[in-house]
Amino acid sequence: MIHKPPASTWGDYRIRARLFWLLLLVGPFVALVTAELWLIEHYGLHGLGWSLAAWLGALLLAAWHWQSFRCPRCERRFFERRPLLLALRARRCINCMLSKE
Ligand SMILES: [Zn+2]
Repeated sequence: MIHKPPASTWGDYRIRARLFWLLLLVGPFVALVTAELWLIEHYGLHGLGWSLAAWLGALLLAAWHWQSFRCPRCERRFFERRPLLLALRARRCINCMLSKE
């Protein structure tokens, strides 16, 4: 019998969560440095706006990716779809009540 790996794992969960926190903490510096070194010189203050908008977009995308994590046990959504970010506070799967590690 061939062992089928689970579609979703806690390792995957940690990667999604870390990606979000990394973007949240490091993103603003990257956005500001990019704007300072290149964008503002070429596009003025709009350059700063663009780099911050790009960071915010990436952050929301990472949050959405984290929130669409599937439960390792029932393989359905672990979190509610909405509200974005706030639903991530849930400690248990919304479908089978599996607890977070
Ligand atoms: Zn579940």
